[in-house]
Amino acid sequence: MRVNCEGCAGCCVDWRSLSATPDDHERVGPERPLDDVYNLVPLTRDEVRDFVTAGFADALAPRLWERTPAAGDAGEASDRSVRVDGFDVAAVAGRPAFFVGLRKPPKPVAPVGADETSWLPTCAFLDPETLQCRVHDDELYPDECATYPGRNLLMDVESVCERVEREFGAPGDRLVEESVPADAEPLFGPQALGGKVFAHPDPGALDGRVARLAAGEATAADRAEFVATAAAASPGRIERNDDAYERYRDRALDAGSWVGAAIDDWETRAASGEPSDPGLAERVEDARGAPETPGWD
Ligand code: SF4
Ligand code: SF4
Repeated sequence: MRVNCEGCAGCCVDWRSLSATPDDHERVGPERPLDDVYNLVPLTRDEVRDFVTAGFADALAPRLWERTPAAGDAGEASDRSVRVDGFDVAAVAGRPAFFVGLRKPPKPVAPVGADETSWLPTCAFLDPETLQCRVHDDELYPDECATYPGRNLLMDVESVCERVEREFGAPGDRLVEESVPADAEPLFGPQALGGKVFAHPDPGALDGRVARLAAGEATAADRAEFVATAAAASPGRIERNDDAYERYRDRALDAGSWVGAAIDDWETRAASGEPSDPGLAERVEDARGAPETPGWD
């Protein structure tokens, strides 16, 4: 597998508003997500721990799904969803299931070869000027990003690279070589529980939080509840280590990284109708301590 990412960032930016045929098939998961984040990057338990430990819990957000009951599954379906805040939230053994991914605030970007910049939901770690990842050479670089679009090739599902080619280029422009990487593996299945798909042990603790997530109004405490539960998970098991949960929740609530501050700043600037200038990144991200990106030369 080989990709040509210069000037693209198609898998880091929600560019559906630039598309003539927007779709949401990259919103991976067993059911329909409650949020509207495109191409969420699902993190492993260990990656969640690393982000929290490094002080970046404020860059993380959960994803839950609303379960649509299938015909004829009424009996055993009872523990596959839980009613919270009026939503039938997809569940594992009666526990609300979720991913933890990276937040996507609006940033001034011109992805997928676009001529003009616009405010588009963009990964918290993408440098809007170079369209490069600020954690690419860092220990925090998510495996999902390092291996993209390996899983798509494995599952024979169209990748964002191919969608970008279809709309703004030609076959082979972005996905230059498409052999399936040896380490590509399916996202779901029993091996994913506690490793990438997590389960919250107390649906009652999520009252109000699920409604805010669905409305795009999650608070730092809402996000920390899920982030800490994921960090306190054990691969292959459904139980949460409550001591670890409390430690990670405290750490998550303490987060005050450049990413979190930049997200707030981007959201304020986009909402105020400020012109979409990628050069703002110097003030919004670099000046707060964001790692530089090298550019393409
Ligand atoms: S969509 Fe494909 S080509 Fe574009 S940045 Fe992502 S991996 Fe690279
Ligand atoms: S972590 Fe980096 S590569 Fe992954 S989505 Fe964010 S900016 Fe893109």
